[in-house]
Amino acid sequence: MFFNIAIMDVIDVVLVAFLLYYLYRVMKDSGSLNVFLGILMFIFSWLFVSKLLQMRLLGSIFDQLMSVGTLALVIIFQEEIRNFFRTLGSHRQLRFLSRFFSRDKKEDATDVLPIVLACNSMAQQKVGALIVVQRNMSLDDIVKTGETINADISQRLIEAVFFKNAPLHDGAMVIQNGRITAAQCILPVSHNLNISKKLGLRHRSAIGVTESYDAIAIVVSEETGAISAAIGGKLMQNLDARKLEEILNKEK
Ligand code: ATP
Ligand code: MG
Repeated sequence: MFFNIAIMDVIDVVLVAFLLYYLYRVMKDSGSLNVFLGILMFIFSWLFVSKLLQMRLLGSIFDQLMSVGTLALVIIFQEEIRNFFRTLGSHRQLRFLSRFFSRDKKEDATDVLPIVLACNSMAQQKVGALIVVQRNMSLDDIVKTGETINADISQRLIEAVFFKNAPLHDGAMVIQNGRITAAQCILPVSHNLNISKKLGLRHRSAIGVTESYDAIAIVVSEETGAISAAIGGKLMQNLDARKLEEILNKEK
């Protein structure tokens, strides 16, 4: 009996350690680690001052802050909290859940060839482009930031949108369930400090959107004509048409 309790205690501690490590990883990935460390510091200071040292005046101020603090935190850190849960939901281990619950599996069959041909042609002409292809996580929040299109995928339409100085060439095009749903969308820019300084905002936002969503982001560089693709916050550079097609077919 004693042996069993000891084993359960060990398992308990290991599980808690695992949970804390997992939370740490998710917070780090979602960029909300500093916020949570700040909150932890505040809670420890509050416990130290009012429970341990029994300082009544300072303790009462902390108590007041604690009582309104939770609501204030939710309001102030909406974005961080949203990022935290989005990252939690998109973690590899949990992705099978979203796949399981995802609807429209048949509609998902995005035709990749027009996308590849358009990127190849734009790369040759050094026309800058940024295309985000949705997978399991909805990109509706991103679509809202741009101009609605809702058209079949076609090489000529993609090229027309990104044509230099065309009204919708700025920002990102979004493809959802085999349709071009929007253009001129604004993507979250990655704050990863390890990204090469040579890469500008187009590439950084391609990386950024794939840090928060399980989408694939394709970039055609206006400066070099190079094609890149980002998945899960990682950028694969200098792709040729065949490699891009392979990635899109494999990952869609
Ligand atoms: P390139 O190699 O094509 O020059 P780059 O990575 O150097 O790309 P910039 O030169 O900074 O990037 O590209 C600027 C263009 O990227 C903008 O004109 C705009 O179309 C697009 N862009 C920049 N930021 C964002 C964003 N947050 N969301 C969507 N598109 C963006
Ligand atoms: Mg540039």
